[in-house]
Formats: sequence, C-alpha cells, structure tokens
Amino acid sequence: VEKKLDDLQEIQNKIIQLREQLHYHNYRYYVLDDPEMEDLKFDLLMRSLIELESSCPQLITADSPTQRVGGMVAGGFKRVNHATPMRSLGNCFSADELLAFHNRVQSGLGEEQDIEYVVELKIDGLAINLTYENGHLVSGVTRGDGAQGEDVTTNIRTIKSIPLILRGDHGEIPSFLEVRGEIYMPSKEFGRLNQEREEAGEALLANPRNAAAGSLRQLDPKVTANRALDVFVYGIGTYTGIELTTHGQVLGYLNQLGLKTNPHYKIFHQIEDVIAYCTGFAEKRHKLPYEIDGMVIKVNDLSSQQILGYTAKDPRWAIAYKFPAEQAITVVEDIFVGL
Ligand code: NAD
Repeated sequence: VEKKLDDLQEIQNKIIQLREQLHYHNYRYYVLDDPEMEDLKFDLLMRSLIELESSCPQLITADSPTQRVGGMVAGGFKRVNHATPMRSLGNCFSADELLAFHNRVQSGLGEEQDIEYVVELKIDGLAINLTYENGHLVSGVTRGDGAQGEDVTTNIRTIKSIPLILRGDHGEIPSFLEVRGEIYMPSKEFGRLNQEREEAGEALLANPRNAAAGSLRQLDPKVTANRALDVFVYGIGTYTGIELTTHGQVLGYLNQLGLKTNPHYKIFHQIEDVIAYCTGFAEKRHKLPYEIDGMVIKVNDLSSQQILGYTAKDPRWAIAYKFPAEQAITVVEDIFVGL
C-alpha cells in the first residue's frame, strides 16, 4: 500500500489495466449473469481505480467504469429509454466513511444543523423501472446502462406482487409515474432452484442476485413465471400529477398505491443513529428471507436532494453502506500486491 506510484506512465498503465478488468467483470455480471469475481473484490478494484483517477484527474475518460452505471443492454430485448436516468450508488464500508458522507452532505447544503436521513435495506437483486400511466402498468425495464434498459414487461407481468393497476382509494393516481425497485429471488426459492439444477446435473447459480437477473431476462416468460421472483420498490423517477416533499412520503405513497415497500426503513435525525442502525443489521440480515448486501442511506428532503445533485453516476444525496466481509483484509492485500 505504501508503494508510491509517482511515475505518471505507471499510473496510466495501471488505470488501463484496471479498466479492462472492470469492463470484463461488468460484462460477466450484467450481461451473462455469471460473475467470476467476488463482489467485494470487484468493489475494491473499482475503488483503486477511483483513487488512481482522482490522483490524476486528467486521465479520466468518459468510458471509464467509474463514470458510467455498470450495466449494459444485451440483445434479445427491445431497448427503451428511461424518462429519468437510473443511477447507481456510491458505496462505503465503515462508520468513518458514513461520517465522511454526512460531512459532504452538510457542506453541500451549507448547513450546520442535523440532516434527516432515511435508512433502507439494500436488497440484493436487480433494479427495475416500472412505468404506470393513469394507474396502469405499461412497462418494466431493467436499469441497463442507466439511460437505456431492456424491455422485460412481459416477464414483469408474471410477478404477482407487482400490481398491474394501482389502487386509487387513498387519493390521487398520478397520470405518469416511474417506480424504481429491486426484483429479487427469496432465499428459499434460490435454494430450491439450485437443488433442482444439481439433480439435473446443471451448473449452479452463483447467488440469488444473479439468479433473479437470469430469471427476469428470459426470452420465454413461462420460465420467469416459474421462478418465485418478488419485488420491493424504493423510489420514483419522473412523475406528474402528484406533490411529494420527502423520501419518507414517497415510500408511504407508493405503499398506498398498492406497491410493495420494505418494512424495515427508518428515519433518523442523528448520523450516530444512522450508523448504529446500519451496523446493527450486519448480524440481523441472516434472519431475513431474502439477501441484502448492505444498507442505503438517503437524505429525506427532496429539495435538499436536488441541491446536492449527482456525480457522473451516483447521487450525492445517498450512499450504500456495505457490510464488512470476513475475507476483506486478504482481498485488500491481494489487490495492492498487484499494484
Ligand atoms: P449497487 O448494486 O452497489 O448499488 C446500486 C443499486 O442498489 C441500485 O441500482 C438498486 O438496484 C440497488 N438497491 C437495492 N436496494 C435499494 C434501495 N433501498 N434504494 C436504492 N437502491 C437500492 O451498484 P451497481 O452499480 O449495480 O453495482 C455494483 C454491485 O454489483 C456491487 O455490489 C458490485 O460488487 C457488483 N458487481 C460485481 C461484479 C462481479 O464481477 N462480482 C461485477 C459488477 C458488479
């Protein structure tokens, strides 16, 4: 780690090598749904690239994996533009990094006072954009590269927890609404599917996230229908005909419309409480009937979100806190030996 890379040429070579590696693993993960590398190792490689690029910003290019949402649009499905782009999330791995995020938010808002945060579970599935027009589901599109995704509407319609028509008994139905959520495969279903594959002598699926992605991106909707996929929604994109001022309100509203939100979200006024809730879930997560790979922390006030805005691919008003993994230290050593 101490080794100094003061030679620009050497830094540039390392950057090129890391980009190639990350492009390759993105392809395996997002297009083939068949990763070769552990997520934590991927995250740490990405972090090394971010650090090298920020030490030499003149080397940043628009096609660097640090500048783009990781997914891609594979063949087989129609490409559809999202009305509002779908971003990724920056990540952090410790309480100190959460504090650093809080400091960035405070200085971005020019405020000394406490900030209200919503903390949610980070569901380990794949992001979906559901579009409702006058309360009717008209499309379900994967995140893809963030601007454009794959039209998987027919498959989405087989997921029973996704309403085809929104409930209007609590008030206004928006004329246009993009709902963002995570499609996931419950742990039990993942176990069942892999057992079935083992008995049939087929290759096992790496994890529930890739199993969910593979199941949703099937050309035959009957295959999707036979996998017990589920959804949790956690946000909105473009919307018209409604007024909302906080993220907490958004979640409540989505719930009223008959969409499935996760019940474990909480609102906090103190960053210390945010940190305690996040770290506390590291143990509890194994009791959940689905996998989570961390927690998501979001600034609650929507106008503050707007002030903070976005980097090339992540919101500045939200961050993912990833749970520490036991093998973290050896993975870090591996990477820096390679540097
Ligand atoms: P991400 O998955 O870390 O975070 C962004 C995503 O979190 C969103 O798009 C959304 O789908 C999801 N999410 C879940 N719950 C949410 C909530 N409550 N609110 C908001 N969003 C929520 O970012 P990413 O850019 O999709 O990909 C990075 C992840 O994929 C990392 O975990 C990385 O390790 C993994 N990855 C692994 C490989 C590999 O080879 N192993 C390759 C590429 C990516």
